[in-house]
Amino acid sequence: MLRIGLTGGIGSGKSTIAQIFKILNVPVYDADGRAKALMENNSELRLRITQLFGEGSYQGGKLNRPYIASRVFESKEFLGKLNSVVHPAVHNDFDEWCGRFQEYSYVIQEAAILFESGSYKRFDHTILVVSPEETRIKRVMERDGLTRSQVVGRMENQLTDTEKMKRAGFIIYNDGKLFLTKQVLEIHNKFVSLQT
Ligand code: ATP
Repeated sequence: MLRIGLTGGIGSGKSTIAQIFKILNVPVYDADGRAKALMENNSELRLRITQLFGEGSYQGGKLNRPYIASRVFESKEFLGKLNSVVHPAVHNDFDEWCGRFQEYSYVIQEAAILFESGSYKRFDHTILVVSPEETRIKRVMERDGLTRSQVVGRMENQLTDTEKMKRAGFIIYNDGKLFLTKQVLEIHNKFVSLQT
């Protein structure tokens, strides 16, 4: 079974493309969603987060997201510290999850950051979704009700597509011109053939 990392900048269309893979019966692990769940429910991770950011990290048993977000936005060092405890928990959780799909040709992990975090090394292949910047900004403004500068601010924390394209194994162009399903099918057939 191959492990594939699927990534792309904010609003590039990762989740949309993950949905197409799911229709093809490919198991997809949502790294960002699982990270949030683990921060809430994994007792070891809760302890580590409390050690890092204090008792205010949880309120009434729930993760105090605004507080954590404010600490993380204070400095890159805090973001790095948070990642240093969350990433290993997600890696372990993904490894366990993979165990359920041994008979599949491949599984996908969808993650917003893969090249930035170094996690890409854990995968057999990587897929990068790219879209024109202006399209991404408009999509996210519409989807999340954000201002242009809020979206641009989030983009600035991620590597540029040019940097990511140097490292990606496969690229899917979600520019509204090329058919997504055709591109997904080509990659799907490639992975299936590598495993048969
Ligand atoms: P994020 O990193 O912010 O979670 P993402 O990369 O997962 O974003 P999606 O949520 O898949 O991106 O797409 C962003 C928005 O753009 C969604 O509202 C989605 O429905 C829309 N979208 C994505 N691709 C297309 C497309 N080809 N045509 C029209 N709308 C699209």
